[in-house]
Amino acid sequence: MRLKCIKLAGFKSFVDPTTVYFPSNMCGVVGPNGCGKSNIIDAVRWVMGESSAKNLRGESITDVIFKGSNSRKPASYAQVELVFDNHEGRITGEYAAFNEISIKRRLTSDAANTYFLNGSKCRRKDIMDIFLGTGLGPRSYSIISQGIVSNLIESKPEELRVFIEEAAGISRYKERRRETENR
Ligand code: ATP
Ligand code: MG
Repeated sequence: MRLKCIKLAGFKSFVDPTTVYFPSNMCGVVGPNGCGKSNIIDAVRWVMGESSAKNLRGESITDVIFKGSNSRKPASYAQVELVFDNHEGRITGEYAAFNEISIKRRLTSDAANTYFLNGSKCRRKDIMDIFLGTGLGPRSYSIISQGIVSNLIESKPEELRVFIEEAAGISRYKERRRETENR
């Protein structure tokens, strides 16, 4: 499953609608300090449902909305969309037949979130569910941020097990069981 592109608007430093394309399996994002490279990774985590402001390097959850500059007014919302190529059918279930899967999140300044799956409104949970067991997700092992390697080395066996279960593809079944037991 390949990320084809990311579309940002009003998200952190990306005030104007911007599309970043990832044309091959290996791409690099380069640029001077402070140009917004890490903001792109924050956007990927955010759209997949990250709810911790700290994990997005902010203090409040609305800190991801462009806060304005000398020449620009603050944005009224932040929006990010990820478009995935699902030709290989890595996404299973209801969306398995789609060659392309788009997920989108919008946050307005009143802290209201809206999520979309292939253009239709959905719950945050629907987005989280679709990636369970794929290795992708807001806190999954496929996003390796600064410090995560040392965290892994120092993590307790129970924490390590979460990563192994996700890699083995069984986390989705554990989540289903947990949901059923809580009903
Ligand atoms: P480095 O090479 O130092 O890691 P980087 O390219 O990863 O830099 P980022 O951390 O992605 O840079 O971007 C930081 C910039 O984003 C800062 O200039 C910061 O002011 C800006 N920024 C972050 N949040 C917002 C926001 N809500 N509104 C406007 N600008 C923001
Ligand atoms: Mg950075």
